[in-house]
Amino acid sequence: MPELPEVENLKRSLEPLIVGARVHAVRLYRRDIVQFHEPGLQGNSIYDQLLLGQRIASLARRGKQLAIIAEDGSTLCIQLGMSGQLRYLRHRQRLGQNDHVHCVWQLSRQATRARLVFRDPRRFGHLTAFASFTELESSQWAALGPEAITIRSHILRQRLQRTRRAIKSALLDQHVIAGIGNIYADEALFTAHIHPASPADRLAHDSSQRLAKSIRSILQRAILSGGSTIRDYTDALGQNGSFASEHRVYGRSGQLCVRCTSHLVSQFIGQRSTVFCPHCQQLLA
Ligand SMILES: [Zn+2]
Repeated sequence: MPELPEVENLKRSLEPLIVGARVHAVRLYRRDIVQFHEPGLQGNSIYDQLLLGQRIASLARRGKQLAIIAEDGSTLCIQLGMSGQLRYLRHRQRLGQNDHVHCVWQLSRQATRARLVFRDPRRFGHLTAFASFTELESSQWAALGPEAITIRSHILRQRLQRTRRAIKSALLDQHVIAGIGNIYADEALFTAHIHPASPADRLAHDSSQRLAKSIRSILQRAILSGGSTIRDYTDALGQNGSFASEHRVYGRSGQLCVRCTSHLVSQFIGQRSTVFCPHCQQLLA
């Protein structure tokens, strides 16, 4: 958490609010959340790297990562980790929970003053500064697998055939496919009738078609519902997503399978809690 649909919603909610705004002040409360892509960048002020004085030109998303791109090209990549939030606050608007705020950008656009706040209670998130967007794309983002939201079945099969790991673990590996986390991996495997412990390289032509289609459709539906709010996720304005009410396996261990009424079970696969139906999700062999 948050996964591709949540980060996409965050991007869509932020775009009309911050694109075109100028960053006229930055407050950084925890220096260790900022990383530099190039050692050379460290010579510049950390505040320059946090886009101080820049006008925000655009936003971009790749997998679960978000980039804020300034007019001069300098780019800040944001990884929300487990619990990171980016919140947009209008002038004098307060954050409900003021704790764990690590960075605040003061923004102005025409006569509007506002703040962008990065908050992260569990501190797995971080910000990485790049001299240009191209540099982010050719390094950190080039290491990611193809985008889950548009994954084609033959590409998915090619990627999964390289590993004997459990298919659930392979789907969580951002180098294999980008954007899927624990929630959407469990949901997609359920929809595709595939047991999460199946070796990834056993995925045949028909099951890879089912799985690719399930991944695309679940992520698209989750985006339309504003994502899944389990604990901390909200969009830029603090709105929760409603897709959690449509989860069919995630968070439903012990409850009845909506397809066959067997009891759903929970098992650790690759150290991640995994919920599935032992009756209607087949182990690929
Ligand atoms: Zn079932």
